[in-house]
Amino acid sequence: MNGQFNVTPTVEEYEFQTKRTPGKTGLMMISIGGNNGTTLCATIIANHHNIIWHTKAGVQQPNYIGSLFRASTVRIGTEPGSGKEVHVPVSDVLPMVHPNDLVLGGWDISGVPMDKAMERAQVLDYDLQRQVAPYIALLGKPLPSIYYPDFIAANQEARADNMIRGTDKAAHLEHIHADIRKFKKDNELDQVVVFWTANTECYSDIVPGVNDTADNLLASIKMSHSEVSPSTLFAVAAILEGEPFINGAPQNTFVPGAIELAEHHHSFIGGDDLKSGQTKLKSVLAEFLVNAGIKPLSIASYNHLGNNDGHNLSAERQFRSKEISKSSVVDDMVDVNCLLYKAPEVRPKGVPIGKGEHPDHIVVIKYVPAVGDSKRAIDKYYSEIFCGGRSTINIFNECEDSLLATPLILDLTILTELLTRVQYHKVTRNAAKQKDFAPLYSVLSLLSYMLKAPLVKPGTEVINSLNRQCNALEGFLKACIGLEGSSDLLLETRIW
Ligand code: NAD
Repeated sequence: MNGQFNVTPTVEEYEFQTKRTPGKTGLMMISIGGNNGTTLCATIIANHHNIIWHTKAGVQQPNYIGSLFRASTVRIGTEPGSGKEVHVPVSDVLPMVHPNDLVLGGWDISGVPMDKAMERAQVLDYDLQRQVAPYIALLGKPLPSIYYPDFIAANQEARADNMIRGTDKAAHLEHIHADIRKFKKDNELDQVVVFWTANTECYSDIVPGVNDTADNLLASIKMSHSEVSPSTLFAVAAILEGEPFINGAPQNTFVPGAIELAEHHHSFIGGDDLKSGQTKLKSVLAEFLVNAGIKPLSIASYNHLGNNDGHNLSAERQFRSKEISKSSVVDDMVDVNCLLYKAPEVRPKGVPIGKGEHPDHIVVIKYVPAVGDSKRAIDKYYSEIFCGGRSTINIFNECEDSLLATPLILDLTILTELLTRVQYHKVTRNAAKQKDFAPLYSVLSLLSYMLKAPLVKPGTEVINSLNRQCNALEGFLKACIGLEGSSDLLLETRIW
């Protein structure tokens, strides 16, 4: 009270157990025929068969650069005596599924065969495409998918030639169920991660009685209610099948009824929207400025891109979904610094009025076909510094969009599979009261590091800070093998 806090250190003991071997894992993407879908399949094939290719710069080896789980290391401790830090590959901390072992499949409303879809995407070098083509062609044509034209931009209609017939949403749900079961059985899989990497949909309205509870959502599917989106139907199918579902796009697939359904079925879900370039950097830079006591007054972000994602986002309602997911990314970092930003006024019963002071934050996305998959982003951070001074940081970023996003799909799949094998219980001193090991909570918020608008347990705070998300993940992985999270106290280097 009155700016004074009493802090009481507490200790709670948990035990974790992790099933050692990853099961045989499938990855079913909605949509396998898009830029991300085809790039992911082609690069896994290239890695699996060790296909090397020629670019104008020379010979290129396949790799998993950009994947946290395949290309980064973690500090595991220090050598006794020398105190030298020891880093190991993240993939060695716990047994994890290797991307080369994923069994790939999925749906697309475009029925173009996979080798032609890879060509259409214009992401990979020609020499790689040429060599991968015979392998990726074996994946055939994507499974027919659910298409409700209202949810994606009208400019996508020309692609839509591979749809599940009819308008009965309950029948569509049943169809997707059957697809997942068949894929699992045909490939003798232990688990299938179902992943939405299809076009961004517009937001669904949250309507009481329609999608606010699990029962209402299921009833709305039976009635083929117009507010149930294709992505929510896929999520419901996966949840009812007990298979994890991840949403890599910004729309609100996880309406409250879908989250409740996942809780009821103890199924795992995660989302929303892949956090690739601009937002990832923003979640680092905004935190750096605010934590340094510098006050960002405005953050203006402009993008242009020329791939099919950009085409879809050129429609107002689909852009709005992206704008929402990109906009909240600095909120929590600003909220923690009441010295720089005024907190919201509070009504007598403690209910805050509005959001409090925030920097102006604007996001613009434009479709420029000529640049294809190479996205250009300009960010301007305009901040108040010492005694009325001003500082401007301009960042210009140019990056091949799908090559940035694909490793995130892999990381999300690898981490999701791992988290389904982790169980925990709280340790009690009374053996009779000791509860059995239980799976983690349905919403896998540990996936936040790779997601732009992290989905968290309802009622808990969203953490956007990349550093905090990284610490949480690292701390969790280490806890699973009985190690403490990293500390940079390094006391031994600071005392006699
Ligand atoms: P893309 O346009 O190349 O591919 C999207 C695919 O979705 C198309 O093949 C389309 O036919 C298919 N599709 C649309 N509705 C479908 C449905 N109901 N069922 C099955 N398939 C359907 O887009 P992309 O570049 O691969 O990006 C995919 C998604 O990932 C987009 O929503 C995008 O916003 C999101 N995303 C991408 C990045 C990135 O850097 N590439 C980053 C964050 C988020």
